[in-house]
Amino acid sequence: MRAMQLTAPGTLELRTVPVPELGPDDLLLRVGAAGICHSDSYVLSVPFPMSEKPLTLGHEIAGTIESVGPAVDGRQVGERGIVYLCWSCGECRECLRGNENVCLAAGRTAMPPCPGLGPDGGMAEYVRIPARSFVPIADELDFVHAAPLADAALTPMHAIRGAMDQLWPGATAVAIGIGGLGHIAIQLLKALTETTVIAVDVDAAKLALATECGADIVLKADENTTATILELTGGRGAEAIFDFVGADPTVKVAVEAIAPNGAVRLVGIGGGATGIDSGPAGGPGLPWGATVRKSYGGTRSDLVDAVALAAEGKVRAQVERFDLADARTAFDRLDSGAVRGRAVLIP
Ligand code: NAD
Ligand code: ZN
Repeated sequence: MRAMQLTAPGTLELRTVPVPELGPDDLLLRVGAAGICHSDSYVLSVPFPMSEKPLTLGHEIAGTIESVGPAVDGRQVGERGIVYLCWSCGECRECLRGNENVCLAAGRTAMPPCPGLGPDGGMAEYVRIPARSFVPIADELDFVHAAPLADAALTPMHAIRGAMDQLWPGATAVAIGIGGLGHIAIQLLKALTETTVIAVDVDAAKLALATECGADIVLKADENTTATILELTGGRGAEAIFDFVGADPTVKVAVEAIAPNGAVRLVGIGGGATGIDSGPAGGPGLPWGATVRKSYGGTRSDLVDAVALAAEGKVRAQVERFDLADARTAFDRLDSGAVRGRAVLIP
């Protein structure tokens, strides 16, 4: 089969490789579509630690069950679905509480095994997945629009749910970075809350997309972003700020424009420092009561619920389609900030 592989740090190659072999608890999925996340681009830009063999990328996977491992119950050849990306241990305290995204077996600051970032992923004709990671999708949902849900909807869904106590009717929510994750975050905020949604991006085209996705107010990111958010919220700040960039300037906005008791959710992995301080009243940093969470992925139930919202038409990824062989072009577009919504590969 054809697979888009990382063959050395920074090197992407379309290769012909064997169809994966199944373990007893696995499914073989015929891939219908695989989304490209900015995290894939990050993997290509760093000296990513590789095992001996090349790695097939792709953690936003939609497809059809091609074969079923002998120990798997309740799954049929031909079922359509997407892949829950936290391949967690299922047995640690956090997994047992349903928090598979922070599986303790992964280690304190690592993440649970994720297809395309350890085990081979979905930028290929077939992928092997643990059966329990399969989440069925409605017939009406095509693979190209379903694949991005696996991360670009899952991750904002989790970040938003964890901030629900601040997202009361009339509250203000800010999404910074209206790319793959951010454009779905806006739709989720509109579907799940009655908040005023402010979208922030450096790029005017992304702000136009934000408006299409339901943002009430759009702001071109500049040195006045914090002041503008404070002005728009009567000086109190926004109740929740979701940072899908996570670079120094955006984290600074998140810390300085959050309301007392507000929820800062850091999702982007831009390496920005929060500079969390324990200073006295009146300083420029975090207000009293504010929480900061570094939010990773989501739980299986976050994904199931995001899929349900997509089936109802309340959430829909904007997509750009590329043949698997044209992955490099898609990555280049993503890196230059040109992709509107999500780039999706079709094998
Ligand atoms: P993307 O490239 O599709 O979107 C990023 C957006 O941010 C673009 O619209 C870009 O114009 C905008 N942007 C860049 N710099 C900005 C700035 N200074 N101010 C405002 N906007 C700015 O990326 P994506 O796939 O949506 O991923 C977003 C981030 O989230 C990446 O860092 C990615 O690695 C990370 N991520 C984290 C998780 C997690 O679980 N924590 C999951 C998936 C992705
Ligand atoms: Zn676990």
